[in-house]
Amino acid sequence: MTRVYFLLGGNIGNREGLLAEAIEKMKIEVGAFIQTSSLYETEPWGFTHEQNFLNQVVVFDSELPAIDILDKTQAIEKELGRVRKKTQYCERTIDIDILFYGDSIIENERLSVPHPRIQERSFALYPLEELIPEFIHPILKKTIKQLKDKCADELEVNRFN
Ligand code: AMP
Repeated sequence: MTRVYFLLGGNIGNREGLLAEAIEKMKIEVGAFIQTSSLYETEPWGFTHEQNFLNQVVVFDSELPAIDILDKTQAIEKELGRVRKKTQYCERTIDIDILFYGDSIIENERLSVPHPRIQERSFALYPLEELIPEFIHPILKKTIKQLKDKCADELEVNRFN
């Protein structure tokens, strides 16, 4: 059984409804639901779009290998109507990233875990700090709190609920 931290985000459609729907689907597909962070509202990263993002960290305990979890979460993204565009940074209904898979380090064609950009992004660090401030990043060997305090990302992140 492995504790898995996901970052959910979306900036089009019914943002709260889609996050809730994704979590319901993950409860069926991924494993035992543990908890969520608050919702955070953030400016889009890397492009401008009129609607801000809602982000949330969601925690599950899972028996599945990380790659199987990625298959499940990608299927859920698809079901919830994500339209892939040519550029990486685009508006989307729902994006599900695997942030941490226990303290495993995974590097292959489809998966980098811990997610390689956690330390650069306030919208991941704020909700992570709410849940696991003392968790030590298995590669950077710093706590979430330390990473957040030294993160230079200046995009505004506000608690939404
Ligand atoms: P994105 O468009 O940002 O959602 O990126 C999706 C791609 O990132 C997929 O092709 C995944 O295989 C890859 N990927 C690599 N590491 C991760 C991760 N930790 N969580 C989710 N997707 C990942």
